[in-house]
Amino acid sequence: MVHGRFCGFRVVIARVTALIRIDRAWTAAPGDERPRPIRFCSRCGHPSEEPPGRPQPRRRVCERCGMGMILTCPRDALPGAAAAFLILTFELEVSAVSEAGEKIFGSEHGLIGAQLLDLMTSPMGDDQLARHTSIAAQRPCDPVVLPVRLTSERAGEVGTMAARIATCGPPRAALLTVEPSNFGRR
Ligand SMILES: [Zn+2]
Repeated sequence: MVHGRFCGFRVVIARVTALIRIDRAWTAAPGDERPRPIRFCSRCGHPSEEPPGRPQPRRRVCERCGMGMILTCPRDALPGAAAAFLILTFELEVSAVSEAGEKIFGSEHGLIGAQLLDLMTSPMGDDQLARHTSIAAQRPCDPVVLPVRLTSERAGEVGTMAARIATCGPPRAALLTVEPSNFGRR
């Protein structure tokens, strides 16, 4: 992921990725080699675990908040419950934002239909950010972590964040979660 010409960012990348702590207690059962997919709400971000042995049709609307759509993603794509994330189309258009995501990116009303690169930039290169997001929106792939910064005037306050990009759906889309890294704030 880190190429020679990006060596100036090695420290940033190392610090940011070191902050990606995947809570295995939450994401996978002990000894579970391949984490099962998880269902989560596109709005409140809480997992929707169905009790086993209930063959009823799966609900699409979140029972917890009544607003979000239930989506599925790999367990290691979500940093935890109530994560800050955006859902994006392969054309890099925002189709949903979680409640926690609004605290970082602004209100849902102003975000739907916005372009990813109008909202954030990556020191690894905007082309990488765009490419990984577009790929994740089109086919299943392993989560990718990239450092990102807001393009708004809040960039200095929020600092560099770790963006985790993965596939979710249906319908298939990119799930981009962000976690603060405490790096690059001023
Ligand atoms: Zn919900």
